[in-house]
Amino acid sequence: MRVPSFSLEVFPTKPEAGIDSIFSTVEQLQSVKPDYVSVTFGTGKSSDLRRTADVCNKIHERFEVPTIAHLTGLYLSKDEADIVLQAYQNAGVQGVLVLRGDKVEGREVANVFHHASDLAQYIHDNYPQFDLYGACYPQKHPDAESLDSDIDNLQYKIDAGVSRLITQLFFDNDDYERFAEKVRAKGIDLPIDIGIMPVSNAGQIRRMTSLCSATIPKSLQRIMSKWEHDPDSLRKAGFMYVCEQISELVAMDVSGIHLYTLNQPEVTKHIWQTVQPLFAQV
Ligand code: FAD
Repeated sequence: MRVPSFSLEVFPTKPEAGIDSIFSTVEQLQSVKPDYVSVTFGTGKSSDLRRTADVCNKIHERFEVPTIAHLTGLYLSKDEADIVLQAYQNAGVQGVLVLRGDKVEGREVANVFHHASDLAQYIHDNYPQFDLYGACYPQKHPDAESLDSDIDNLQYKIDAGVSRLITQLFFDNDDYERFAEKVRAKGIDLPIDIGIMPVSNAGQIRRMTSLCSATIPKSLQRIMSKWEHDPDSLRKAGFMYVCEQISELVAMDVSGIHLYTLNQPEVTKHIWQTVQPLFAQV
């Protein structure tokens, strides 16, 4: 049985919190010894352009963990993409998670990188040193007509150089199994790291699932309804739910688990301490 990788996602804290606030988070995550840390990117406002690179730079320098920097293309000109990619280069970033980004109401798109695949091609041609990662959606992307057409569209980013995928959150491993079977049947055999969302707050889970059109299975709905107003019990039950989800995915021989830390080191460490034996070489 293969040993999956274990990686983490963090986001740059708001400028007013100061860049250092993210380092105490990452510092506390050191005991996890992640295979890589990915750092999210905003919607490409000029004030956002260097934030992800700054965080990657410090993580790389201070903790010597490989970093994967996210980049969304929808609102970027080529010049802006170059500013960010050169900053990633200087920050020692190992790979870029190439994304389209979400549409923001009332804001004009740049009309340069329409899809993640356009940005992937640009990076592949101009910054070949980066490993390219792409997003995938076990319950389909909300814009896609069907799961099959969404999987067909994955081929565009693969043709443009993406060599590893990370999934959107999901809570029912059967959804992933169905997706993985379809992906493999279409001849796509890239490693897929599974994006796992910790369950510690019912409102937050409802908000996030509605934003990305993911579903909440009955078993998790029961947990959320029962302990909605008892945060401590919800955290405990949600923690057990997620650890079970991870152990089943490891049994399914997935390539990697990618935990969305939400910058909460305590929850992340607790999950890691519990599932760690599953990641030991046997
Ligand atoms: P695309 O791959 O472009 O797909 C979008 C839609 O277009 C899909 O329906 C797809 O089927 C279709 N499609 C794809 N390629 C083509 C093509 N060439 N021609 C025609 N149709 C096509 N957002 C942020 O703002 N910042 C982040 O840091 C961030 N991190 C993320 C990390 C992960 C792991 C995931 C899963 C999502 C993340 N997102 C982030 C959200 C992401 O930006 C949105 O989900 C966005 O709506 C789609 O991005 P994408 O790269 O999957 O788009």
